[in-house]
Amino acid sequence: MKAAVLVADEKIEIQQCPEPSPGPGEVLIAPAYASICGTDQHVFAGEFAGRVAYPLIQGHEFSGTVAAVGAGVSDLAEGDRVTVDPIVPCLRCPACLMGRLSGCQRLKLLGVDLPGAFAGRVLASARSCFKVPEDLSLRHAALTEVYAIGCHATRRAQVDPGDVVVILGAGKLGQCVLENVRRTAARLVVVTEVVPERLQTARDLGADVVIDVGREDPVRRVAELTEGAGADRVIEAVGHARLVGPNPTEPMTQAAQMVRPAGRVVVLGQGPVPAPILFKPFVWKEAEIVASRVTLGEFPRALAMLAEGRFHPDRLITHQLPLDRAAEGFCILADPAERALKLLLEIEPPSEEIAPDTNPLPFRERAG
Ligand SMILES: [Zn+2]
Ligand SMILES: [Zn+2]
Repeated sequence: MKAAVLVADEKIEIQQCPEPSPGPGEVLIAPAYASICGTDQHVFAGEFAGRVAYPLIQGHEFSGTVAAVGAGVSDLAEGDRVTVDPIVPCLRCPACLMGRLSGCQRLKLLGVDLPGAFAGRVLASARSCFKVPEDLSLRHAALTEVYAIGCHATRRAQVDPGDVVVILGAGKLGQCVLENVRRTAARLVVVTEVVPERLQTARDLGADVVIDVGREDPVRRVAELTEGAGADRVIEAVGHARLVGPNPTEPMTQAAQMVRPAGRVVVLGQGPVPAPILFKPFVWKEAEIVASRVTLGEFPRALAMLAEGRFHPDRLITHQLPLDRAAEGFCILADPAERALKLLLEIEPPSEEIAPDTNPLPFRERAG
């Protein structure tokens, strides 16, 4: 099989590799589309030294078709269209034993700790596979995980009817959080961002207010919008913060200042640099800070929402390349001038699948 193999830091080669065969409980999948995720970029850049071993086949956000099933697999068959939860929790650590699999400290991730989907074939455990509904394309289904991560963060936020929710950052994850929050009964959804195209996308996807942090102080604006009360929920989806504008402060410091007393802040970003935060506002407000990592049972929800056209994956996919050009894909994502959100690699896409943007943008009239 053909595979995009990471052979050294920032070096991908297209190679012919032996095809794996499914063991008991496993499924062999022919990936159709796989997206390059932020984690893949960090691995590619060599930031996972000590965890990953080269040569590595990356890729954990993907869809595909079952090519073969191993012994004991009865609910999947050759030809089934699937997407895969790439998380393999240990099931033995304290977090796992409490059912909090997303907090597992020994979890393995397809495409990082195990061979991934940037290849003609990939192995997955049958229990990690989710059948793709008939009316959902494999192209859109490849984004199930990132929407599920947005869904998980939204559930961690426990948005109540009438809440004011602020989403810090409108990158791929911020947009997926927005798509999920927009489906709650939040009264006002505010998005902060610095890249103009991303602000526009957030507006199109139904943000009631977008704040360009390069021009405006988001803390002050949120105070104005809430008449000084503060935001009920703040979801930090910035990751790598670039401090700009009239209030160039760390996102979590902004969150501490924005959140209302007894409000809740959800942290998603995994920037590699320590960020100084003054905790006094959190303490004075007795606000909650909650982390959100990967997913915990949100795959079926995300798949159903995608199938019903409630998300707008074509707004997320900004680039698409054949697998042979995987290395170029990483360069595109690293170049701010490309204004990339999601980049899909075509591995074995179904020939009949074309990708019209069929989902209307139902909240456009509310954007302002
Ligand atoms: Zn990912
Ligand atoms: Zn565990």
